[in-house]
Amino acid sequence: MPTCWLISEEDNHQPIQLPHLQAVVVGRGPETTIKDKKCSRLQVELKAECNKGYVKVKQLGLNPTSVDSVVVGKGNEVRIKPGQTLHVVNQLYPYTIQFREDLTGHNNSSSSSKRPREQTSEDRDSQRDAQTLKAAKQNSNGSPSLSRGENTKTNENAGHWSQGLKTSMQDPQMQVYKDDKVVVIRDKYPKARYHWLVLPWQSIPSLKALRAEHCELLTHMQQVADRMIQQCPESSSLRFRSGYHAIPSMSHIHLHVISQDFDSPCLKNKKHWNSFTTEYFIDSHDVIQMLETSGKVSVKEATSELLKLPLRCHVCHKEFPTIPSLKEHLKSHFPRH
Ligand code: AMP
Ligand code: ZN
Repeated sequence: MPTCWLISEEDNHQPIQLPHLQAVVVGRGPETTIKDKKCSRLQVELKAECNKGYVKVKQLGLNPTSVDSVVVGKGNEVRIKPGQTLHVVNQLYPYTIQFREDLTGHNNSSSSSKRPREQTSEDRDSQRDAQTLKAAKQNSNGSPSLSRGENTKTNENAGHWSQGLKTSMQDPQMQVYKDDKVVVIRDKYPKARYHWLVLPWQSIPSLKALRAEHCELLTHMQQVADRMIQQCPESSSLRFRSGYHAIPSMSHIHLHVISQDFDSPCLKNKKHWNSFTTEYFIDSHDVIQMLETSGKVSVKEATSELLKLPLRCHVCHKEFPTIPSLKEHLKSHFPRH
């Protein structure tokens, strides 16, 4: 049975697991990082029905909880499915739910959902690297797919959402190109009309692990990206960029190849927008150059702040107050034919 996760759309904290048929109450507190007094500590009760693919949402607090902008109402219960947005209170603090195949073979206990303190992106980075190392160690047979080992702790990590690319890169349904060094997959949540990920077969957790000896591999990844763009039917009318997120959320290094229309329902929030249109997105050529000149890739300390910048059109630089208004404006630059 899949496991269910509650995901902060503002990426304020790591996903919270919603164990099958167990009531999980969220609200103001360290786990959600919500400090707003309008939000009760016991604001909303969530009960996942993992076999049915939805979560029951019950508003416990006084102020309105909503699903897709429809208020639940105190004491009432509604269902939320993947793709819908839960606002914990007063149309604020957006969350989505995701069901992920449980690769662990265990029923995750609620202990795996406990997050004792607010985590920094640095923490998350090193945690990811540690997870990848463990996964790599488990897979000494060379298979990058995550296996069922004996160590329960490792198993919990193996099924974690941040490891999803390792599953997708093995999935023929997701693969659009492969050779002896790399595989190209479709991004599962594309943020534009064309969005692919180029991944090496070699296990490299993140930009931080890159060294001068990886230059050749990265150059090959870039060449494969260029070929993907050339072969795209809209390559003459759309501009593309290929590059890396300075602080990725998914483990296993991946080169984004993305058309610059950003015309996709999966592009939902400021973090998504700024991660592709500010210096948070580092061009592949720049990464290769950094490696050639200094033997490593350094990411500035304040990089995560870039995700909070105002929403600005990447074509004409006009500022917009909301994602819907920005997306409406983008239609003028990128009309659909
Ligand atoms: P980042 O780690 O920020 O560079 O971005 C990770 C990318 O992977 C995002 O564009 C996601 O939409 C995409 N993604 C997340 N999970 C999966 C998956 N299981 N398979 C394919 N793509 C995924
Ligand atoms: Zn514009």
